Amino acid sequence: MTEPIVLPEFSSFGDQTISGLDSPEEATAASQSVLQEARNSGRPRINDPGESHLTLHRGICREGAWYRDAEVRELTGADEEAFAAAGTSAPKVFETLLLRGTVRVGGEPMSPKVAAELLIGDREELVVAIRRATFGENLEFERLPCPQCGELVDLTVPLGALPSVSLEDPEQIEFEVPLRHGATAAVRLPTGEDQAAVLAIKSNAARRDSEILGRCVLSVTQPDGAVVRRPPAQTLKMADRQAVLRFLGDTQPGPRLNQFSFTHESCGEEVELPIDLAVLFRGL
Ligand SMILES: [Zn+2]
Repeated sequence: MTEPIVLPEFSSFGDQTISGLDSPEEATAASQSVLQEARNSGRPRINDPGESHLTLHRGICREGAWYRDAEVRELTGADEEAFAAAGTSAPKVFETLLLRGTVRVGGEPMSPKVAAELLIGDREELVVAIRRATFGENLEFERLPCPQCGELVDLTVPLGALPSVSLEDPEQIEFEVPLRHGATAAVRLPTGEDQAAVLAIKSNAARRDSEILGRCVLSVTQPDGAVVRRPPAQTLKMADRQAVLRFLGDTQPGPRLNQFSFTHESCGEEVELPIDLAVLFRGL
């Protein structure tokens, strides 16, 4: 039997801290449908639950070909010491986990370079797989107070039941986002490298948004056909900035661990239960 988890205070999962990317309503709807699907069919992207191999959403590109297969391994005491040395910063712990727990992506051994190339969602998919290889499929919660009725709930949540988003076309690199006044933006999805650049900015959320927009907006096309390549993020209109950030957040594939919720059967209410790194790895 696995040990029950004591719920810590929730922070964001890993380094999923890019602001402006949340959409709670859609998330709840998505988590419900995915949960239902997972109950029926299991999570489609995991080749063999409980094992150490998985298929990523996009993977890495080498000489024009995409490689999506990846291998993770069970964590050991040596890893645990490395995590302790990484300190308490969630992004640092996440990066250490990812680098140590991932064996390879495609034919390449895991490295900081490979980790930087991967989509944010692929990085999170790997960390969930490392969790599965280390502690198994189920998250166990014991005596979790229901915020709606106060009753204490025991709950088992299979990792495969957590909400997740897939890419329609794994090889689509550029996406079009409609902007105001008939303009469109061509964008790409953020990777580990983009995320690291955003996290390096400590000052404020707007500057972080500008950093991600400056990296991921490739061009803006006006209705008259005029194209501005790599527009400075500060020149984008506020509503357009938000539209692009929302698109990037909604389209990024991967687990939506901070959007998990369940229906408490006794009271019939929906209870939000965001899952973070500490819950996944038992207080790591
Ligand atoms: Zn309840």
